[in-house]
Amino acid sequence: MPRYEYRCRTCEDVFEVSRPMAESAAPASCPAGHGDTVKLLSAVAVGGTRSAAPAPARAGGGGGGGCCGGGGCG
Ligand SMILES: [Zn+2]
Repeated sequence: MPRYEYRCRTCEDVFEVSRPMAESAAPASCPAGHGDTVKLLSAVAVGGTRSAAPAPARAGGGGGGGCCGGGGCG
C-alpha cells in the first residue's frame, strides 16, 4: 500500500498516511486531529525500475541485404 505525505496547515506537522491509491485524494486528519491538511508531492516508494540499458546501435537501417534492399540496384 503506498504511503502519502500530508502537512497540517494548523500545526505545520508533516505526517504519512498509508492508504490505497483510490483514497489518495481523500482528506487526512493530522495526528493532532486537525482536518486542514494538504497532500505533499513526495517521492512515493513503489519501486521505480528504470531501464538504463543502452539500446544497441543499428548500423544501416535499410532492411535488406543489398545496397538498395531489393538487389536490383544499377
Ligand atoms: Zn495539526
